[in-house]
Amino acid sequence: MSSRHFKVAALAGDGIGPEVMREAIKVLRAAETKFGFTLQMTEAPVGWAGIDAAGKALPEATLALCRESDAILFGSVGLPDRDPTLPKEERPERAALLRIRKEFGLFANLRPVTLPKALAAACPLTPSRQGAGINILVVRELTGGMYFGQPKQTGTLPDGQRRAVDTMVYTTTEIERIAHVGFQAARLRHKKLTSIDKANVLENGILWRETVTQIGKQYPEVALEHMFVDNAAMQLILRPTQFDVLLCENMFGDILSDEAAALGGSLGLLPSASLGATHGGNTFGFYEPAGGTAPDLAGRDLANPIAQILSGALMLRHSFGLNEAAEAIENAVTQAINAGCRTGDIFNPDEPTARRVGTRAMGDAIVAAL
Ligand code: NAD
Repeated sequence: MSSRHFKVAALAGDGIGPEVMREAIKVLRAAETKFGFTLQMTEAPVGWAGIDAAGKALPEATLALCRESDAILFGSVGLPDRDPTLPKEERPERAALLRIRKEFGLFANLRPVTLPKALAAACPLTPSRQGAGINILVVRELTGGMYFGQPKQTGTLPDGQRRAVDTMVYTTTEIERIAHVGFQAARLRHKKLTSIDKANVLENGILWRETVTQIGKQYPEVALEHMFVDNAAMQLILRPTQFDVLLCENMFGDILSDEAAALGGSLGLLPSASLGATHGGNTFGFYEPAGGTAPDLAGRDLANPIAQILSGALMLRHSFGLNEAAEAIENAVTQAINAGCRTGDIFNPDEPTARRVGTRAMGDAIVAAL
């Protein structure tokens, strides 16, 4: 990989995947020309498209392409109405998504929520609580904590009661690597990191807080604060504008990232990134919209392509170090929204300047703004 040339596996998947991927590729191509980098983007089937093409949700050739690539730009997979007899472990959600997460050691999940002022009405909070606009990044640890800790079992006690055990466990190495991701992301944003824990009750919380504080010393330009998770859940609703980056362990991040997502107006606006290890300056990453395949909209030019387009921007920033180009795409999205372009999911008939547009026209407006 030369410093300005990157290989991308583009896996559109099912439902609205191909339509929104087409728009994301269009925007990335426009950014390429403007910012002087090149993407070798190769498309391959995954999900039901993989099953139809090669009999498997994640065909060997698709997996091989991912291994040769610097990042994966993913659409979504799964069609609930197709073949209910296919066993769970062969269905796309498991066979493709979980396999990729495991294969590439993706340990950090990034979920930005940006609500432009122009979409204030799409947010469940009153405009007075939205300040100048909500702009939060939740960084969630993805492979440790309660979801994976051992022992994890359900048994029966001598008195006949059943008893279930989950174990919350973190090592300093695991906390350190996710803390670095959080601080590095904050450095590219508004330079504030709020680390979430439950240090008043959990041993894990104490270790989390101590370790994050230690790592924070390497990032003096980032202001670090600590907050208990219960308070963070409340503050996200009361005063979301106080947050820049929220750094969370796995379960807290699972919950808070969905709470934050609810502030974002529509699933169609929310991108995500899952990052693996960094080798030679390149961080392998998997980039996908937060939403699914939206079968109700598929093939009708109705889906919002913004989540997919912003996932492409995250890829430029976090895997390729092209922050300027990523910001330009994000600004172009805001401009298209400010100009009144609205797909159905964010259309509000009471807005005098709003113009209902399709998937393709939204992509075109973003390319034009870029
Ligand atoms: P969904 O996210 O596909 O749809 C939920 C609602 O959000 C629908 O009303 C849909 O129209 C809307 N929506 C989602 N994305 C949108 C967009 N870009 N623009 C406008 N509206 C959008 O969730 P679901 O209906 O529960 O799931 C459908 C399928 O997607 C299932 O098979 C599910 O397993 C799969 N899924 C896949 C992923 C993934 O690939 N990562 C994630 C979630 C769901």
